[in-house]
Amino acid sequence: MTPADLAFDRDHIWHPYTSMSQPLPVYPVVAAQETSLKLADGRKLVDGMSSWWAAIHGYNHPRLNRAMTAQIEQMSHVMFGGITHPSAVALCRKLVEMTPQGLECVFLADSGSVAVEVSMKMALQYWQARGERRQRFLTLRNGYHGDTFAAMSVCDPHNSMHSLYQGYLPSHLFAAAPACGFDDEWQARDVDDFERLIRLHAGELAAVILEPIVQGAGGMRFYHPRYLQKVRELCDRHNVLLIADEIATGFGRTGKLFACEHAGISPDILCVGKALTGGTMTLSATLTTREVANTISNGEAGCFMHGPTFMGNPLACAVATESLAMLQEGHWQQQVATIEAQLKAALLPLQEMPEVAHARVLGTIGVIETHRPVNMAALQAFFVERGVWIRPFGKLIYLMPPYIIQPDALTQLTGAIAAALARPELFLSA
Ligand code: PMP
Repeated sequence: MTPADLAFDRDHIWHPYTSMSQPLPVYPVVAAQETSLKLADGRKLVDGMSSWWAAIHGYNHPRLNRAMTAQIEQMSHVMFGGITHPSAVALCRKLVEMTPQGLECVFLADSGSVAVEVSMKMALQYWQARGERRQRFLTLRNGYHGDTFAAMSVCDPHNSMHSLYQGYLPSHLFAAAPACGFDDEWQARDVDDFERLIRLHAGELAAVILEPIVQGAGGMRFYHPRYLQKVRELCDRHNVLLIADEIATGFGRTGKLFACEHAGISPDILCVGKALTGGTMTLSATLTTREVANTISNGEAGCFMHGPTFMGNPLACAVATESLAMLQEGHWQQQVATIEAQLKAALLPLQEMPEVAHARVLGTIGVIETHRPVNMAALQAFFVERGVWIRPFGKLIYLMPPYIIQPDALTQLTGAIAAALARPELFLSA
């Protein structure tokens, strides 16, 4: 990439959550292989992010490439209205087989946020079909579900975009975020606020929506499996649907194939995305039970009212099917356990450093929460100089590497974090 390309990028192209007038620097990546990203100047960076939870098998994987190439030679895309194709059937068969019990009906869509929109529309149409006016959602503080409007309306009201869109977003209900950590001793009162809200509002609730076990972009927090079990019990007792957003946690990231398995529960509606295609293409799925699907279908509309242009894109389905086949071979379990042990050994002792408020690890997710916000541009440059790609935000420096990462590469990532924590100039004043 030439300096002119970078100047064009700066002047004309928006990046996620950045200013057009004062953009933060971007780093030109020209290739990616296994766990490394190659910069235009030839430097290689160890990838600690899996491109935001997605590239679980690493980059440029020959099996995923072969699956895509073979599909391209048949057809890259065909409409899904009135047509089906082998890739969608193979993928949905695997999804029904692998996801928690009872989820039998699959809706394919384009991205995580759209899967969340679809899940919320399913809940609304379900109650409408049953002749009940239930239009509110109950969720947890510190949650994150995406950037489209319905998804945004159930993101944490403080550290998200609620204030910007006030008056436009529907007003939903927010229970206190779980305080009891994944490994803490369970405190039954943790779920009191949630219980109070569901009891008070059950009659107007279409569904509870939450990220099971790991709250991602809203704080990288890991909560107790008993909390999720209690939520399932309370949803059953008060006759409210439960939507589990496993877009970040799905496909092994937390040490279980799905985070719901830590609590042994099944949701009524499940959203998956991100790692679904092994990080190669954008695709998501929303699964639900036969009962929810049939109720919607027997309602006033006679169908579920959603149908994106690229629904069931064959290329994305083909590569997702191969990615799931690789997971089904089972190596991920040992890989994730090995990464978890190494992350714990390297990151948990950093808890003693003065900049660190909390260090935590679950599955392949390692998180350092700092007292002061990071100086994003300075810290990013520091990491790149050390040959690693780690993208911090706010007071969070975190890792979620591809499952195939080797111990020495992981040491490079954790070592760079430890080195950064010893440099006070990389943090903003509190
Ligand atoms: N839900 C969760 C839990 C997520 O982490 C994300 C993405 N960060 C989304 C939904 C939205 O997915 P997408 O960015 O693909 O729209």
